[in-house]
Parts: sequence; C-alpha cells; structure tokens
Amino acid sequence: MSIPRIELNDHTSIPQFGLGVWQVPQEDAERVVSDAFELGYRHVDTAQMYGNEAGVGAAIARSGLARDDLYVTTKLNNNRHEPAQAKDSLKVSLDKLGLEKVDLFLIHWPLPTQYDGDFVATWQALLELKEEGLATSVGVSNFQPDHLDRIVEATGVVPAVNQIEVHPYFANEAARAATTRHGSAVQAWSPLGQGGGELDDPAVTALAERHGKTPAQVLLRWALDRGDIVFPKSLSKSRLAENFEVFDFELGADEIATLAALDKGEAGRQGPNPDTFDWIPD
Ligand code: NAP
Repeated sequence: MSIPRIELNDHTSIPQFGLGVWQVPQEDAERVVSDAFELGYRHVDTAQMYGNEAGVGAAIARSGLARDDLYVTTKLNNNRHEPAQAKDSLKVSLDKLGLEKVDLFLIHWPLPTQYDGDFVATWQALLELKEEGLATSVGVSNFQPDHLDRIVEATGVVPAVNQIEVHPYFANEAARAATTRHGSAVQAWSPLGQGGGELDDPAVTALAERHGKTPAQVLLRWALDRGDIVFPKSLSKSRLAENFEVFDFELGADEIATLAALDKGEAGRQGPNPDTFDWIPD
C-alpha cells in the first residue's frame, strides 16, 4: 500500500495518512504503534502532552524500520513555551522517542492569554531547533488566522503545517483557509469526530453504503479528498486496519459538498477554542 505524500513549503514531504496517539495510554502505546506499523502505517503523531512518547519510541526501536521510512511528529507541551524550555523539551522528547531528530515539531496550542501572549518567541525557538537539526520541519497547531498572520509577519517564516480540528460537523473553514493561504498544509485532527455522532449521521452512512465502505472510511476519505493530512486514533488493530483501507475509493465533488454541508460551526467543535484555551499542566 503506497500512502500519498503531501509536499510541504520547506521542500520536504509528509505521508498524508498516519496514526494519532492522543489518549493512547503509555502502557498501550508500544502495542498500538507496533500494530499500526505491521499494517503499513509509517507516520505517527504524538505530543509531549500525551505522555506516551516512550511507548512510541519502544515501538520504533522494535520495528526495525529504516528511519527514512518513518515520519514522527511531536508537539510542545503548554508548560514549555518559554523559549529555553521549548528547546530543552525537544531534547527530552528525542530521548524518549529514541531519535536524533523528529520529522515535525509543533507548537501544540497558541495560548494567546498566557506567556504575555508571546507565541512569537516560542515560534522563534522552534525555528532555532530546526536550524540546529533537531527537527526537519516545524509548524503549529490550533493557530487561528490572526495567530498565523502574527508569526509570519514577525519572523517571515511560514509554518510547514497547521494542525487544527476538522471534521464534517466542525469544518473550521476560516482556519483552514488561512492555513492554505499562507502556504501551510492542513493537518485535520479528530477526523472521525472522536468517534462521535458523525459516524451515525445519515449523510455519512448513506455514502458508506453507496461506496461499500464504513462510515469511518468515508470520513477519512472526505479529509483526504480535500487535501488534508489525517492520523485517526484507534486502540484496536481491526479498526487500525479499517481506517487504513481508504486508498481504493474517492468521493465525488458533490459527495464532498454533501459532507461539508453538515458543518455546525462552533456548535460542532469537540475540543477547546484556541482563542481562550489556557490550560497549563503542572
Ligand atoms: P479521532 O481519530 O477522530 O477518533 C478516535 C475515536 O474514534 C476513538 O474513540 C476510537 O475508539 C474511535 N474509532 C477509531 N476508529 C474507528 C472506526 N473505524 N470506527 C468507529 N470508531 C473508531 O480522534 P482523535 O484521537 O481526537 O484525533 C486523531 C489524532 O489527532 C489524535 O490521536 C492526535 O494525534 C491528533 N489530535 C491533535 C490535537 C491537537 O490539539 N493538535 C487534538 C486532538 C487530536 P477506539 O480507540 O476504541 O477504536
């Protein structure tokens, strides 16, 4: 199975599909990531906040896969935005992951009401980490249009990606449009709506029936057909396999539009609003 790749603005490329490991407990991470590798997944999206980088690292070590065949992302924790701490934190992540560099390092949340609202200094720290060779690419997550404008204006450097919540009930079009307007790739988090109501929505189940696929596969195909990068999470090997079987069909423009019409705006959001999210772990 060949996974399509998306070209990034820094002349690298990323597999358009991978595994997300939010809410994969550390004790399950090695098994889940190993199952995914066995099925052909080669891209893993973790974060310092997920507390499972060591489990991901154990699966990488066990896999015997060549480093160049893997794509590994981690993200800066909310309590490490101060530039020196941001830089040190990646070294800790690399140690847990057993890697010399990550493929992609992201600012997890902009936290505009914390750190004097200075996510520009944090972005500058990530640019230095890239210069130092500890991350091949750097980007952001949960950045709103004005957050993107601000870091690009201040540094002249456009993030490789913006990882934002996107699924049919929360299409997040303004953030998505700002991301592509700047030339960053969109990573759509919670593409299955966290296993919620979209899987049972009649518009989704009708398309699933028409294509002989499952609702989850239709939701993933919708994101892929719109050019977004996805990494659905599952603890179960059979669902990991199901989610990977999305490269033998496509949705038509009318079908993509049908799902886009399910957008509920803010009411469809599953996660926190990045403008107000201010959680800092101990
Ligand atoms: P998701 O992938 O949209 O959905 C995961 C949920 O759907 C789990 O409850 C899973 O249950 C269930 N599921 C998985 N496959 C299924 C299938 N084929 N049929 C029915 N249910 C299925 O949610 P997510 O984990 O929030 O998002 C994906 C990834 O995005 C995360 O893991 C993380 O890497 C990233 N993310 C990033 C941010 C951010 O702030 N940057 C925020 C959230 C997520 P089981 O595990 O029981 O199968």
